[in-house]
Amino acid sequence: MGPRRPRRAALALLAALPWAVGSFAAGALRAGAEERPRFEVRDATAALPMRCEGRFAQGGMAVCLAEPDARITIGEAETRADETGEFVLGFDRDAPAEESIRLVVPDGRVFTGRLPITPRRFDVSRIDGLPPSQVDQFTKEQLARIEASTARKERGDRSRAALHAFRDRFARPLAARRTSPFGAQRILNGVPARPHYGVDLAAPVGTPIVAPADGVVALADSDLYFEGAMIVLDHGQGFLSKYLHVSRIDVEAGSRVRRGQTIGAVGSRGRSTGPHLCWRLKWRDRNLDPELWLADGAGAVAEKEPR
Ligand SMILES: [Zn+2]
Repeated sequence: MGPRRPRRAALALLAALPWAVGSFAAGALRAGAEERPRFEVRDATAALPMRCEGRFAQGGMAVCLAEPDARITIGEAETRADETGEFVLGFDRDAPAEESIRLVVPDGRVFTGRLPITPRRFDVSRIDGLPPSQVDQFTKEQLARIEASTARKERGDRSRAALHAFRDRFARPLAARRTSPFGAQRILNGVPARPHYGVDLAAPVGTPIVAPADGVVALADSDLYFEGAMIVLDHGQGFLSKYLHVSRIDVEAGSRVRRGQTIGAVGSRGRSTGPHLCWRLKWRDRNLDPELWLADGAGAVAEKEPR
């Protein structure tokens, strides 16, 4: 991460931004969109004083620049630009074709606009042979464990680290074959279930998992019902990457991690049919596709065919 720009510089920068489509330089926005054509740059609309760079598709995300301390509402989700004017947005797997945005700047002016989001086509994946206790038949004790797990996960999800690491594109947490893509409609033991909100990477138990970007450990929990053991990293403002079913946790909640640092190891705990890492990404209640934020731009978007 680079040094923080002072507030005055950020304001000057914002004022200097060319609002027409074209070249500009700032923050993650300074990263050079022309070098990474897959990360699109958008003026949300001429009416919105903000610019964003990212993946404007279901499961995608963007890093944006507006006036420092601006308050932003996108759909039902809320965030705030930090003292440099930067903020991150996420677009859910089921995001509508257009997201409505409301931006309130510190002097009270209100701006509204709409951001088009590319719909995607998702696979269907069937998993059979799961124990019923991992799908839909739970004892009283299991329900109590599920409830306790949920409460701890929700605490982790409320993390809002004062970091800018969300602007850094992800490195891969491990080199492995992808066995299940993000967003697949799941059919568990023949019954339609929630979509798969992760990317599954198959690797032997004990394979090290490294942080894809700097962050703060929002959760490190080895007793979760479905996830088994899970690590959650906050890359800033609640842009949360998650590592499920791990066999080992090498970090503690609240500690800082650096890109490339080993945080744990692959396992098969919880609802898992074999050793793999289930890698997830979340912003507010929205489920994102971590592969869309990879530095190598490898996350391909299969667009939905127009009807
Ligand atoms: Zn998974």
